[in-house]
Amino acid sequence: MTEKRVPVALVSGGSRGIGRAVVLRLAAEGHDVGFCYQSNEQAARELEKEAGEAGVRVLAVRADVTDAASVKEWIARTESELGPIDTVVCSAGITRDNPLLLMSDEEWHSVLDTNLDGVYNVCRSVIFEMMKRKSGSIINISSVAGVHGNPTQSNYSASKAGIIGFSKALAKEVGRYGIRANVVAPGFIETDMTGALTDKVKKDAAKQIPLRRFGQAEEVADLVAYLASDRAGYITGSVLQIDGGITI
Ligand code: NDP
Repeated sequence: MTEKRVPVALVSGGSRGIGRAVVLRLAAEGHDVGFCYQSNEQAARELEKEAGEAGVRVLAVRADVTDAASVKEWIARTESELGPIDTVVCSAGITRDNPLLLMSDEEWHSVLDTNLDGVYNVCRSVIFEMMKRKSGSIINISSVAGVHGNPTQSNYSASKAGIIGFSKALAKEVGRYGIRANVVAPGFIETDMTGALTDKVKKDAAKQIPLRRFGQAEEVADLVAYLASDRAGYITGSVLQIDGGITI
């Protein structure tokens, strides 16, 4: 009898927030996990150790998702150390909020480069191997801002809407190869990203949420782990919102 291979997951932006929770969750569910971070070396090393306590291999590599060469190097190293990649989670993302009237070219391009080109760079680098092996699950983290738009976030909303179009097109392209591509669109989740909001903004936002609270990164990780699993074997091209009902 041949032994079943340990599944391998790749997570962009794994060092903090939602990506971090995804790394921990997938490791706990028995995946070897390779993740990248941009600058926060200490957080990445600590997570490598913590996630590894689940008894799986965890590999943190510094890589900039805006840079195709850096992404290719990260993925080649992950494949060579951990093996073929079964699940990809694109979580790396940034905000640079401003009303359009005041938005700088830098704010526009940095958000599009990280959030949308970043997803393209990662997915472009893994897709051929997945097609050859005729399996794979891709989960891209968008936002409710990408579905409904958000004032002062025209750059962010455009990047997150772009992820949705990209993922639906990809789902149609590669479904015949047994590859699924889905989108998770969170509302307000407690991470460093929303930690930057003032207390008043947070309080006002919570009042708009039927469940009256921000979500936890672990709750998003639960959904991602479900989409990565065979239990979600017939789900592709979907946009799953996890937002406490804010968009109802
Ligand atoms: P955080 O700010 O907590 O973490 C961002 C992560 O992305 C970090 O690991 C960071 O690395 C990494 N990162 C940023 N830029 C790059 C880059 N160029 N290359 C590689 N890695 C990079 O964000 P969240 O966890 O809150 O957000 C995760 C995703 O979820 C994002 O795509 C975000 O847009 C989305 N989202 C978040 C929501 C929220 O309320 N928090 C709501 C809806 C969507 P480093 O640690 O090195 O800086």
